[in-house]
Parts: sequence; C-alpha cells; structure tokens
Amino acid sequence: MATAATPRVGIIGAGMSGLCMAMKLQDAGIDSFVVYEQAADVGGTWRDNTYPGLHCDIPSPFYSYSFFPNSEWSRMLPPGGEIQQYLRRVADERGLRRHIRFGTEVTAARYCDGRWRVSTDSGEDEYDVLVTATGFLRVPRVAEIPGRESFAGPAFHSARWDHSVDLRDKRIGLIGTGSTGVQIVAELGGKVTQLKVFQRTAQWVLPFPNLRFTRLRRETIRRFPALARPGYAFWSRLISTIYGRAPIQPGPARTYFHTMCRLNLRLSVRDRTLRRKLTPDYQAMCKRLIISGHYYRSIQKPGVEVVSDAIDHIEPRGVVTTDGTLHEVDVLVFATGFDARAYVRPMSIVGENGTTLDEVWADGPHAYRSIAVPGFPNLFMLMGPHSPIANQSLVPVAEDQADYAMWWIEQIRAGRVASAAPTEGATKTYNEDIKAALPQTIWASGCNSWYIGKDGLPEVFPWHPGRHRELLRGPVVADFEVRTGH
Ligand code: NAP
Repeated sequence: MATAATPRVGIIGAGMSGLCMAMKLQDAGIDSFVVYEQAADVGGTWRDNTYPGLHCDIPSPFYSYSFFPNSEWSRMLPPGGEIQQYLRRVADERGLRRHIRFGTEVTAARYCDGRWRVSTDSGEDEYDVLVTATGFLRVPRVAEIPGRESFAGPAFHSARWDHSVDLRDKRIGLIGTGSTGVQIVAELGGKVTQLKVFQRTAQWVLPFPNLRFTRLRRETIRRFPALARPGYAFWSRLISTIYGRAPIQPGPARTYFHTMCRLNLRLSVRDRTLRRKLTPDYQAMCKRLIISGHYYRSIQKPGVEVVSDAIDHIEPRGVVTTDGTLHEVDVLVFATGFDARAYVRPMSIVGENGTTLDEVWADGPHAYRSIAVPGFPNLFMLMGPHSPIANQSLVPVAEDQADYAMWWIEQIRAGRVASAAPTEGATKTYNEDIKAALPQTIWASGCNSWYIGKDGLPEVFPWHPGRHRELLRGPVVADFEVRTGH
C-alpha cells in the first residue's frame, strides 16, 4: 500500500489547459503544484497569437471555463485579446501566479524511482504526477519554400506577428488560407495598399453573425454571473450537436454545412473567375471548417488579389509563381500553420526503463483515451493525441481531461495508488477502435489537412465529442497497471 500523502504535481504550460488543471488541484485543496511556463505570461496560444483579426470562431458564451464565466466578452466571437485578458484574470483572481514559474523552460522529464524528475533551464525538481498542458498548435510550421530566407523585407509567421512593421502603406504577401489566413484577410483586406493572398487550396467558409454584446449584458453578467449559465449550456449543446455529428456520419447535418458554404460563396462572390478560384474540390468540413462573415467581402476589396498559381520560390523582391510571375511585395506573412504532431516536443519525456515518448510515437502520436501512455506512469496529457478538436471548444475538453487526471491524483492522495499507467493491451484496443472509425469521418474524405497523420489517417477523435466525455467520466481501472507501493 502506498502511504497517504498529498502528491506533488508538476504542470507544464500555463495556457488554457494548464490553468484549468491548476484550478482543479486548488479546488481539491492541493496546493503542492508548480506550473512551468517558458514565456513571461499565461495564455498559451492566445498570448502567442496577436495577428490582426485574431478571434476565436467558437461563440464566446461557450469559450470559458464552465466554472468561471466571463462577463467581459464584447462580441459573439471573442477577440483574441479578450481571451488573453480573461485567462490573465483567471490567473489573478484564482491566485495561480504564485504557482507559476515564468520564463522557465522544461527541457526533459524522466520517470525515475517512482517519481517524475523534471529538468528545466534552471535546475531539477521531482513530482509524483506530471501533467503536460503544452497545447497542440504551438510550434509554427515554416513553409519549406525555396529562397524563403532571401526575401529582403520583413517576413514573419502569423503566430510571431511583428507589430513594429506598419502595414498601411505596404504591399503584403500572405501565404496560407487556413483559419488564420482567412481571419487576417478579413481584417486587412481594403486597409492596406495591396494584399496578395497566396492560396494553395481553396477553403469552404461558413458565415456566422459576429454580434456585438451590449454594455447592459456585460454589466448584468458581471453582477449575476449565474446568468451566464444558460448561454453556456445553449452553445455547448448546439456546438457539440451540429459540429459534432456532421464530421462523423453522413446525413442532414453534413449536407447542411456543405450547402450553406456553397450558398455563401455563390451569394457573396459574383465574379465567376474569382468564384471558381475560391471553390474547393472537396466536401465542407474535410479541412477544419472556416467560420467567417467577412472573408469574401474583404477578398473583393480594392487591392486584394487571390493568387492560386503554385508558389515556385521566394526571391528578395517577392514571390515567384510557377507561371514565372514575380509578385512584388514589401512584407511576407506566413500563415502556414503549425506542427500539430509536436505535442510536448522538443521536450524529451523518458518513461520507465528509459523508453522515450519519441520512441513510443515513432509511428505517430497515440495515447490511451487521449490522456495517458503505457510505460509512462502518472503522466497525464491534456490535449493529447486524438483529443476532440476540429470545430469544438477546447475548454470543456480540457476540463474533462483535467477531471480524469484528478481522479488518479485523488487515488494517490488517499494512498490507494502509488502509480498508474494504461496497459499496452487497453491502449492498443482503443487505438484500433479509433483507426477503424476514422475512415468513415469527413476528415478522411479526400483532402489534405493538418489533421492527417503519418499513416494517412486523420489524428482526431472519430466519434461524437460527448463520447470523449463518457470515456473519461469513470476511469476503467482494469485498463491500468496500478502499483500500490514504490
Ligand atoms: P492551417 O490550417 O494549417 O493552414 C495553413 C495554410 O498554409 C493552408 O492554407 C496551407 O495550404 C498553407 N500552406 C502551408 N504550407 C504552404 C506552402 N509551402 N505553400 C503554400 N501554402 C502553404 O493553419 P492555420 O490557419 O494557422 O490554422 C491552424 C489551426 O489553428 C486551425 O485549423 C484551428 O484549429 C486553429 N485556429 C483556430 C482559430 C479559431 O478561430 N478558433 C483561428 C485560427 C487558428 P493547404 O491548405 O494547401 O495545405
């Protein structure tokens, strides 16, 4: 039997999930935790991304912790800056900052003698439980375009926006038309001298009314936070139902999205040549669905041009496409996405017997129910492989995963468990079930996207997001190798 004692918990990352885990520990009366954050502030992706037009395309009433409503949203689709402010307020009001070691990068974590030894750039610490909350769209993907380094003007990735560059009188080249590129175009189109949008693959775009909230609404929720609950419940149900069902099974929901996107394009873009350029050759939702009420309007503004010829190379003056045209620009923005398979990497995670996570993931990242890995006892990953992401709000996903980790932490605190890691068998079965379900999803219907993994299958949760919640609700202890003493 292990001895009952409050476990020490290390959390890596002070973004939305890391803060969530920290609050769950606090609520359980556990104060013995440390959050490592390599940057100087909380917020994760909402701290790193500051590009013009940044917002979240999930309705704001649903983009907050279920237990910490935000009265301050100004709009239906929350601007990035407001999300960052919200996360800062959460950290302040919950007194989390004293637990966070800012400016501290975790370089490695090794499971040794029943504890996690965490190495940072300033030393080593030991924990009973390690929770990784590093996010999955953290490492910018640099487009491997020949001559990229030779460009003479300012050039930066969308997640590292250079605000010292004044864009108004500039000719801007924007590479990429994912959720990020579309938001940048929607904001900058018509506001800069020239905007050349280099589109490799057209996107389906669903319009969504981005209503402004009244001061009265904000004031009311500030005074009576409980009034935020019905909005949360409404959007939670709607988003998980409509965005949840359409991708996983053919039917009316899927047809609805495709029809709405097609109609949106047809009604918004009158010019046939432009419309043809903007028409994708795959089903709506195969790539992550883009939500924008302004994209088509902005892309038709004076000075905006969609370049759909493939990029051949970059040279000091601009971008050369395969038809030989040099598109001269002053600034180059790479909205080329992220390495979605990085997860905790480049950090080195070493489990029992010296096995590294890199070795276990040689054929692609996988986990037991998205959260734990065989051979890595007391390691819990938030937003791990095959989490329900796509067009869902990630906040409730983080809450469910943190609750699951808490269940095990409570067992350790009570002395019933010393360590737990999923068995190879249970993890294999789970991943085989996922693989069997994936081909039926829309994400595998014939488009290229960042969801697609090494094996050609999407790395997402192939069932309704409600099932993820069910899978995490009650841990199946038989699926774990549990030790009761070190
Ligand atoms: P992304 O979806 O991966 O899009 C990257 C874009 O860059 C694509 O258009 C891609 O073209 C293009 N690209 C990549 N390499 C290229 C190359 N060598 N030459 C030309 N084009 C190239 O990345 P993202 O737009 O940053 O979005 C990533 C994810 O972040 C989203 O899917 C979403 O989950 C999240 N996000 C969410 C929100 C929100 O509102 N909730 C907002 C922004 C981002 P192809 O399509 O041909 O690959």
